[in-house]
Amino acid sequence: MNTLAAPLVDPFGRAITYIRVSVTDRCDFRCVYCMSEDMTFLPKQDLLSLEELDRLCSAFVRLGTRKIRVTGGEPLVRRGIMSLFRSLSRHVGSSALDELTLTTNGSQLAKYAAELRDCGVERINVSLDTLDPQKFKALTRWGDIAQVMKGLDAADAAGLKVKINAVALKGVNDAEAGDLIAWAHGRGYDLTFIEVMPLGEIENARFDQYLPLTELRASLSQRYTLEPSLYASGGPARYFDVAETGGRLGFITPLTHNFCESCNRVRVTCTGTMYMCLGQDDAADLRTPLRRSESDEPLEQAIRAAITRKPKGHDFLIERGQSHASTRRHMSVTGG
Ligand code: SAM
Ligand code: SF4
Repeated sequence: MNTLAAPLVDPFGRAITYIRVSVTDRCDFRCVYCMSEDMTFLPKQDLLSLEELDRLCSAFVRLGTRKIRVTGGEPLVRRGIMSLFRSLSRHVGSSALDELTLTTNGSQLAKYAAELRDCGVERINVSLDTLDPQKFKALTRWGDIAQVMKGLDAADAAGLKVKINAVALKGVNDAEAGDLIAWAHGRGYDLTFIEVMPLGEIENARFDQYLPLTELRASLSQRYTLEPSLYASGGPARYFDVAETGGRLGFITPLTHNFCESCNRVRVTCTGTMYMCLGQDDAADLRTPLRRSESDEPLEQAIRAAITRKPKGHDFLIERGQSHASTRRHMSVTGG
């Protein structure tokens, strides 16, 4: 197939060059904003094998995907996951891919950081919302911050460039946000704050968690000088240079400032379901065409057909008293 003649372009003229692949919906944490405590996970037999995930990702690469982010659930708890990174690294080696990366909670990084670097991974996103061990325990329910810190040390030692993602949570980490900046920038990491999104039913009311980043930015401006940065990652974050630390601070604002007009991505779950938008329910089954034939033609056709249905954007809303999630899927299913 001639990818130059037919790149993936959606009905709104957006070129789709980035996929996020969730390799498992399972996780060794139970973050209060992401999952409910009592989650039902997909039966293991429904999952695509690592070989099938490789075939699926490779089809996207042939169709012009330049960046793959492996995510979950917690991607590093999937058994044998390094074999997927190893096989996908050939696309980095051939320059078909600009970037192979992952988003992780960091719990397994001490084990895998060096091998990830060896597979051509250069930058990783690590999610960390607080530096306070007790708060960390309360937020993740099952996590141990010391293990994440060991993982970060291993990432540094392996030469992986780290970006920290922190979900801004009202009354939980807002007072600590300035210290998170000082810590992350002190370690040479970029830091990005994210607004909580109404995805999946959880125990807490979303309104009680939601902190508009407009508010956080205003309060951070009392401690730091935030200069709009020329840097653009190609993603939804808007960046600021922090004069006092010399580091970079990003804000991802799906609620207060919708960025869908520049969306370049789709998401595929561990069962081969493709979501054209994080915040909408329409989906395409890629597992059936993948398994139907040894040829990738049906799969590529299914991908192309799905891209024609990519919606304009999400319509997230978090208001007092509003109890419905925008989608019933938790973030851990679609992949962050
Ligand atoms: N387990 C990995 C991790 O935590 O980095 C990868 C998957 S996790 C679903 C990806 C990202 O989504 C994390 O940064 C997490 O904080 C974020 N996230 C989860 N639920 C969210 C929600 N409801 N709103 C905003 N971000 C969310
Ligand atoms: Fe697990 Fe990541 Fe969700 Fe936390 S945010 S429960 S670490 S998938």
